[in-house]
Formats: sequence, structure tokens, C-alpha cells
Amino acid sequence: MRTDVAIIGAGPAGLLLAHLLAQDGIESIVVESRAKEYVAARIRAGILESSSVDLLRSVGLGAGIEAQGDEHRGIYLQWPSERHHLDFVDLVGRSVWVYGQTQVQADLVAASEAAGRQVYYDASDAAPHHLDTDHPCVTFTDAGGAAQRIDAVAVAGCDGSFGPSRAAVPDDQRDTWERVYPYSWLGILADVAPSTDELIYAWHPDGFAMHSMRSATVSRLYLQVPNGTAVADWPDDRIWTALATRLGHGQDGWQLTPGLITDKSVLPMRSFVQSPMRHGRLFLAGDAAHTVPPTGAKGLNLAIADVALLAPALGDLVRKSDTALVDAYSDTALRRVWRCEHFSWWMTSMLHISGDPFDAQLQLAQLRWVTSSAAGAAGLAENYAGLPIGF
Ligand SMILES: Cc1cc2nc3c(=O)[nH]c(=O)nc-3n(C[C@H](O)[C@H](O)[C@H](O)COP(=O)(O)OP(=O)(O)OC[C@H]3O[C@@H](n4cnc5c(N)ncnc54)[C@H](O)[C@@H]3O)c2cc1C
Repeated sequence: MRTDVAIIGAGPAGLLLAHLLAQDGIESIVVESRAKEYVAARIRAGILESSSVDLLRSVGLGAGIEAQGDEHRGIYLQWPSERHHLDFVDLVGRSVWVYGQTQVQADLVAASEAAGRQVYYDASDAAPHHLDTDHPCVTFTDAGGAAQRIDAVAVAGCDGSFGPSRAAVPDDQRDTWERVYPYSWLGILADVAPSTDELIYAWHPDGFAMHSMRSATVSRLYLQVPNGTAVADWPDDRIWTALATRLGHGQDGWQLTPGLITDKSVLPMRSFVQSPMRHGRLFLAGDAAHTVPPTGAKGLNLAIADVALLAPALGDLVRKSDTALVDAYSDTALRRVWRCEHFSWWMTSMLHISGDPFDAQLQLAQLRWVTSSAAGAAGLAENYAGLPIGF
């Protein structure tokens, strides 16, 4: 097969890139190792920054957000006996939207199918080749067991943290940075109306907790747990009791309403960046190039921002052999990546219990400052609601 851009990975980065390229008249073929249903069902991120929403709306992907999304003005930050609301709209003039990654993925799949774009699901052994030439290709085995090869002008590595693209960059031509945190998140999805109108981020001596939501009838909640925690160690009652304690059930009359838990998983926390986000004709986007701990709600938004930069760059390369934007892609994307890496690390470090009492006092001092100083609050709000895509 021959196309303009061969894309490895049909997550949000890969499918949105294919969509943006198609809007610009650029062809692509997507290769995905998992089944379409598996990709669609993955429970992951749930918050869209204002710039992500603006972008999705501008390319015809805003209908679902309008119909089912929930615009939030801000978040609650709390610690025992105190809860404060930060109003991002008042502070920096921007909001965020609660709209699950499963919904974003469903919108992207619907758009891809409506346009008849080629996506090979259930593909195995995907591998990029000849990346330091002008004629790269991707080989894979399709769902029927046939060997396939896609020749392209460029390859987009949108295959997440464990795909082949990141590793296709020779060791001596990449730098990596990594931080592994000494705790994980136990995340649950529950069939119960959220007990809050906006997200609650709670510092507590027992560990961080968070109350998020996916819709008017589905809540998403998280607990800080030690690394290596097994889901089986957390029966439903234990989860609701810990959430009630950490989120302040009863404080000023606030009630946490428990409900039927439909999904439970443990998510390790990691920061990771690989630079440059390009090797010859291979361009990395989204989790293929970087990982953030989810405390700052940045992973999905970074994937969207990366491909928003990459699509016009690949358009210029394919149509005009103009390399100015592809040459600038890695540096431009990394500026925003590192800003979001810092914000995600900062939120994580401010809210999770390390076991060190000195750390705990520093965290509380930081929380008091962020919730009582206009400058502190605006800094958090500007980063959380999201910086411009080309920041
Ligand atoms: C388990 C998990 C839970 C998360 N939870 C949250 C959360 O609660 N809040 C939050 O803000 N963020 C969360 N995130 C982060 C957010 O979901 C990601 O940042 C986002 O999915 C990035 O999109 P992406 O398209 O770059 O990568 P992905 O969504 O990972 O998509 C990559 C795609 O490539 C495919 N692929 C992998 N290997 C191959 C291969 N060899 N061949 C072909 N295809 C391949 C994968 O199957 C996948 O479909 C979570 C991430 C993970 C992994």
C-alpha cells in the first residue's frame, strides 16, 4: 500500500491526526494492534482543556461535547476541615470540559468510519523502517494473518508508551527523562450521580483522593495507594469508607453518596519524556513521546496538542516538500510538553502523601497559598485550563 502518512496507533493521537490530515487533503493509513472494541472501551482521561475543546470544535468534532460534555468553571482543592473553590473563568477566562476519553475515541472512530478512512485493527508486529530516508515504510501482519507494507512520505508514531515507535529511535540519538512516583492511583467508575458539581482534589494524611465524574449518572473516583497494590485488596466497602474519610464526608454537611462500582484499576504514576520527538521521517506524538501522572489531567490534552502541531507540518512536507514546520515540530511540541510535565509533577507532589512530616507541612503551606493568593490561584488555573497549543 502507498499513502502520505502511515500512522501507528489508533488512540486519540493517531485517529485525531488522521482526521486533521484528511481535512487538509492528506491521506493516511492507521495500524492498531488492538481490536476496535477494546480501544473504545478503555477507561482513561476525562478532562478536556479549553484549547482541546476549541480545536475539536473547529474540525467538526464538537457535537458530542455540546450534547454530552459538562463545562466546569474550576475545581475544589481541600484538606481536612477546609474546602476552597478555584474559579478558572474568573481567574484566567478559560474553563475545562468533563468529556471522557471513551467519548472522544467514539467521536473519532465515527468520523473515521463516516469518511471511509483505512484503519487496520488487530494488527500485529507493526514496525517502522527506513526512517532516515525519504521513503519510510511500516510493515505489519493484518488481522487475517497476511503480511502488509505501507510506503509513505512520513510515519507518525502515535502508539503510546509501549509501542514500537519510541524504541525505533537509536539509543545514541535520543535523551530520556523519567520519574517513578512511590504511589499509585486506585481508580473506580461507579453508577452513581456525582456528589459534587466540580472535581474535588483532596489532600489527606491517609493519602490523596479525588472525586471526578463522567456524566450526570457516572462518577469516577481515585485513591492514593502504595505501589504494588492489588485490586483484590480493595473490596467495595473499603473503597467507599476510604473515599468518605479522605474526601470529608460530613464536613460542613457534605455527603459522599456511594454506588455500584463497575470498574476498578490500579494506575502507576510516572513522568517520562523522550527527546527529540522526531527521528528522520518518524514523528512521535502523545504518549509515544511522553507520560505525565494524571493529577494535572494533561495526558489526553498533550496528545491533542501534539497532533495539532504535527498535522500542518506533515501537510507542508507532503504537499510542498517544505520542511520548515517538521524541522521545528520537536522543539515546539517539547516546550508545551515540559510545561505540562512540570505542572503534573507539581500537582502530584503537592497532593500526595510521601510519609515525610516535613513534606506534609510544605504541601499544606502550598495549598494555603494557592487557595488564598490571587497570583497563586491564577498560576494553577492557567496551567489546568490549559495554555495555548503553540505555547
Ligand atoms: C492505563 C491508563 C490510565 C489513564 N488514566 C488517565 C486518567 O485517569 N486521567 C488522565 O488525565 N489521563 C489518564 N491517562 C493518560 C491518557 O489516557 C493518555 O495520555 C492518552 O491516552 C494519550 O493518547 P495517545 O493516543 O497518545 O496514546 P494511547 O491512548 O495509549 O494510544 C496508543 C495506541 O497505540 C496502540 N498501540 C500500542 N502498541 C502498538 C503496536 N505495536 N502496533 C499498533 N498499535 C499499537 C495502542 O493499542 C493504543 O490504541 C491514562 C493512561 C493510561 C495508559
